[in-house]
Amino acid sequence: MEIEIITVGDEILTGHTVDTNAAFIAQQLTEAGFIVRHQSSVGDTVEQMEEEFRLAWKRSQIVIVTGGLGPTDDDLTKRAIVKLFKRNLVYHEEILEQIKERYRLRGIEMPAINQNQALLPQGGRFFPNKHGSAVGICIAEEGKIFIALPGVPMEMKQIMADEVMPYLRSLKTGHTLAIRKIRTTGIIESKIAEIVSAHLKLDFGVRLAYLPSLRGVDLRVMATGGTDAEALDKARAVERQLDEVCAKYIYGKDNETLEGVVGRLLADEQKWLSVAESCTGGLLGSTLTSVPGASAYFRGGVLAYANEVKTAQLGVSEKILTTHGAVSEQCAKAMAIGTRKLFDTDYALAVTGIAGPDGGTDDKPVGLVYIGLADRKTGFARKFQFGAGRDAIRLRAVYAAMELLRREILQIS
Ligand code: ATP
Ligand code: MG
Repeated sequence: MEIEIITVGDEILTGHTVDTNAAFIAQQLTEAGFIVRHQSSVGDTVEQMEEEFRLAWKRSQIVIVTGGLGPTDDDLTKRAIVKLFKRNLVYHEEILEQIKERYRLRGIEMPAINQNQALLPQGGRFFPNKHGSAVGICIAEEGKIFIALPGVPMEMKQIMADEVMPYLRSLKTGHTLAIRKIRTTGIIESKIAEIVSAHLKLDFGVRLAYLPSLRGVDLRVMATGGTDAEALDKARAVERQLDEVCAKYIYGKDNETLEGVVGRLLADEQKWLSVAESCTGGLLGSTLTSVPGASAYFRGGVLAYANEVKTAQLGVSEKILTTHGAVSEQCAKAMAIGTRKLFDTDYALAVTGIAGPDGGTDDKPVGLVYIGLADRKTGFARKFQFGAGRDAIRLRAVYAAMELLRREILQIS
């Protein structure tokens, strides 16, 4: 079934409202195995809407519209619907009663214009709205479905969850889509694509997408099949192959995060972690502690921005700083060892680098970061070159540090 989403509102076209409704609806539908083929936005005039609705109705089996169902003059979605479907608007007593009741509960007399909200296209059904007075509208005709929902995100979400999704699921036949997300880090997109294309042949009905971000590269496997089970089997078969050929880089699946995975590894082994941060300025500690339950494995950290802090708090020797500098393998290693001792933890991570935009030299360009890791026996540091952009460098450093620890705990070389 081809589904199309249309959001209504001048503020969306001008960029004043970010279109989160379309994203939410598309995610819900995709997760449920539907295929969204088109998304568009349209301004608040009956003519524009009617034109867009007509095109959508012609090419898609299911059309979902949000916005413009309010009682005011600028809410014209219903008028465009009745033009397209050549139906009249008729009063619906049940809806009118519900709206009156809503106002009664708030101790306000219902404004006259709210009567408009009890108007439905003839022959249509409605989806009740628990958070507002604009009900959702549904017209089924010629084996197709047209749905209009209010634009207020909270109202739209409630109607989607309680009414639209159960209804659409009940209709579902044939083509379904299964999705698996495989999350990697510490490898660039083109490199992982090279590995994958050397080892994998994708069957008909399976697609693989690479989704790079500063945190790593996600691989999204999308498989279609006649039933949910068939689609999922196909997706899982590809997932197993990826698990094998990309093993070392895969830290998790679907919504797992690297900080969550590292936290779980530490908690499982009952190990403690501490950190020392120079160029990331607390971002590593912040990311690690964003995971609920981090107190079971994260002890604390030092923001060792200035050299004096590195020496006084972490015991980095003056000699290392004068001979090699603060951004050096030796310094990162000494920071990690000193931090581990200071906090008496099983592991310590240390980050020191040049986040820029100033301060780079030929020898030590912006983006150069050393990450140190110490355990109870020893310590080491790795060199990274993270490119440009202060925020990007800092975020990449945080993920590289957590990945270094993940690989250390799992003994992945
Ligand atoms: P109302 O009864 O409040 O008028 P409505 O169905 O007429 O509801 P709109 O007037 O189109 O909806 O939008 C109401 C508010 O909902 C907007 O001001 C905006 O904040 C939010 N909104 C509308 N459409 C979207 C969208 N596509 N994405 C995110 N937010 C939206
Ligand atoms: Mg409105």
